[in-house]
Amino acid sequence: MQLSFLGACREVGRSCFLLEGKHTLLLDAGVKFSRNEEYPLLDRKQIRRIEKVILSHAHLDHSGYIPALYASGYKGKVACTKPTRDFTQILLADYLRLNPELAPFKETDVNQFLTNTELLEYGERDSLNMIQFRDAGHILGSAMVEVYDTQRLLYTGDFSCRSTRLLPSADLNGVDADVLIMEGTYGGVNDQRASSKELAQRLVSSVQKTLDKGGKVLIPTFAIGRGQEVLFILENFMRSGHLESVPIFMDGMVRKALRIHRHNALYLKDEIKRRILTSEDDPFKSKHYVTPTSKDRHEVFEKEKAIIVAPSGMLSGGPSLLYLKALANDRKNKVLLTGYQAEGTLGRQLSDGVRDVEIDGERVHLKLEVEEARLSAHADRDELIHLVRNMPSLKNVFVVHGEERTCLELKDALDLLAKKQERPFKVHVPSRGESFSL
Ligand SMILES: [Zn+2]
Ligand SMILES: [Zn+2]
Repeated sequence: MQLSFLGACREVGRSCFLLEGKHTLLLDAGVKFSRNEEYPLLDRKQIRRIEKVILSHAHLDHSGYIPALYASGYKGKVACTKPTRDFTQILLADYLRLNPELAPFKETDVNQFLTNTELLEYGERDSLNMIQFRDAGHILGSAMVEVYDTQRLLYTGDFSCRSTRLLPSADLNGVDADVLIMEGTYGGVNDQRASSKELAQRLVSSVQKTLDKGGKVLIPTFAIGRGQEVLFILENFMRSGHLESVPIFMDGMVRKALRIHRHNALYLKDEIKRRILTSEDDPFKSKHYVTPTSKDRHEVFEKEKAIIVAPSGMLSGGPSLLYLKALANDRKNKVLLTGYQAEGTLGRQLSDGVRDVEIDGERVHLKLEVEEARLSAHADRDELIHLVRNMPSLKNVFVVHGEERTCLELKDALDLLAKKQERPFKVHVPSRGESFSL
């Protein structure tokens, strides 16, 4: 069995791994959003050899390159869950709309992808009898992939060990494998996270502080996952009177994604599922939600106090940029970063304290407050180590989907664990293009 690392190596973005064993499988094919868009290291010859693509979840750093495979002659299926297909459809359409020239594929390639999906439930084997999904608890429909080749392999994709207001946590029941490809986004020595409750509380009090001053709060989020989580938190706290009632403007794909959550209620947490399926009560509707169209966005700015939830979460595009520019000049306003900010993005610059920035080619000085209230959609360091500790058969562990320093810090901890537990597994932090025979 040969395993090649084509992306997400010492970086977050363009996840892509090629597995050549009994069958040739590609695990994810994403893009990376930095100054220039960057793609996995795949050539046409390799693409033609692929028998099946396995997609862990909809985020574009895992899915954004799949239509390009069809553009390069791939003719096979893409195995994913139903919510993943539904989300990917709207994300890819949006990606094409925003980057018609830049995108490495055309609408026909997206259609090829969407008509060639093999939909799998968690726990169901695929048509080759090679893979099976487990709930990854990261976004609706997200999956960890178990591969049954000459050795057993587990690819975690992005996963979260904590249940949120909407989703159950990753299903790690009885999990084991010989080979583990794990994300390491928050694997660094300082990456311990507070509880979901505490994080929500922190977010809400930061919002309230700005409302007290009569300002507006911009919350840039991923269109899918964090966007809905943020809306749910704000709505619940407003309803219980613990957050001032002001309009919550949802812009961009956040609203469309909300609809897909409702249509895929079966994948939600039990209590939300029950509310949707057995009562008239719709947890995705609220009197506080307002959806501005691109024409009436000015309404948002006429309000004295407001909360705006808009993609993209790292300020690398989408309506959040437009709002940032409009709110930049007033100290009363705040931009609240809630997620991971990748190297090379505007969000990362803000997080690093840069206040003179370029937005759409224009120099802007930011007077508004910048704060972070990170919600967790990824396992933290202790949870990552815990996963490895509880997989007794491991022989090889590959840390991907994390910045270089973070991955190396996680490797140190795992090496130590192997020594302490007197276990024979090896830990690798692969470079892009590196292959391993297992
Ligand atoms: Zn993700
Ligand atoms: Zn990811």
